[in-house]
Amino acid sequence: MPPHSDGVGAALQIDGSAVCLKAMFRLPVPDDLHLHLRQGPHLANYARDTAAQFGRALVMPNTRPPISGPAALREYRRQIVTACSAYAFEPLMSFKLAPDHDAQAVHALADAGAVAAKYYPRGATTNSEDGIEDLRTLYPAIEALQERDVILCLHGEDPSAFCLSRETAFLPRLEELVNRFPRLRIVLEHVSTADAVRVVRTLPQTVGATITAHHLVLTLDDLIGDLLNPHHFCKPVVKTPDDRNALREAATSGDRRFFFGSDSAPHRRADKECACGCAGVYTAPVAIAVLAGVFELDCPGAGDAEQPLWVRRLRAFLCENGAAFYRLPPARGELVLAPEEWLVPAAYHDVVPLMAAKRLRWRASRV
Ligand SMILES: [Zn+2]
Repeated sequence: MPPHSDGVGAALQIDGSAVCLKAMFRLPVPDDLHLHLRQGPHLANYARDTAAQFGRALVMPNTRPPISGPAALREYRRQIVTACSAYAFEPLMSFKLAPDHDAQAVHALADAGAVAAKYYPRGATTNSEDGIEDLRTLYPAIEALQERDVILCLHGEDPSAFCLSRETAFLPRLEELVNRFPRLRIVLEHVSTADAVRVVRTLPQTVGATITAHHLVLTLDDLIGDLLNPHHFCKPVVKTPDDRNALREAATSGDRRFFFGSDSAPHRRADKECACGCAGVYTAPVAIAVLAGVFELDCPGAGDAEQPLWVRRLRAFLCENGAAFYRLPPARGELVLAPEEWLVPAAYHDVVPLMAAKRLRWRASRV
């Protein structure tokens, strides 16, 4: 009997003359709690790629100019909603913390509907030249975040450290924030190291962490181990097999502190395949299929009568843990995960995705 034939939604399919039972699974439509959609003429394509698979996404504010004020936040949300009008899709808006933000600025952004504030250390990643030099100068604004229950999302890297050590070097600052703002909900974004996983596990439940799909499948070998692959270059950079294994263990463990944020970050081919290539991996169209493959491999246990263990753990990571941390209402709609091999296109809108021209075993679609 094929694997997972006991799953909800098991369907009879005919392969040639043989009739075989293959399972497909239904999940609540997932949330992507870390997403880049850019601005301008390409925004609509990127937003629709996400809306085809996700019901909500936390949209990152490091556009140029950044989303740092109420008017810009409202306008950016309007553009995204317009682009995705064919889908039931809700953008969750974040704003970029700016050096001149005070408590009043935070209150105005909270009133405009911001659910999260994003901290970028100066120079850490794409469009962060205007980031924060010293987080402590923003304590009045962070106090206001805590008061308004707006989540603080951290790009947790210290740009002054060696590139592979930047996340680890940042972790004491996370602990300092937790101690100083005990009621503030904080998300350490796109964790990339075993060190970060370990520290997050020692912190109170006010702290969560997002994990991307690409950090679960890539190591530094996939970036520079053979010929340079600029489409695997991102910040924080992918790291060692031990780090990747720690991330996979955290993601597939069911631990509610870890949830999905794709950090899907489209850059057009010419901006990646050049002398100063941009950081970012485009994963929106493939992330769920990639995750399904990872969880199926890493969670071979039997699970309950309704769904295998890997599907239940995937549902927790993709649909439940993040929504619970963000206190979002239940998702409206479902996602079907079908055991259907498909070839990932070489490019979407001139952006080379993760797994370009490779075959994936699972196909995800909203219903
Ligand atoms: Zn990001």
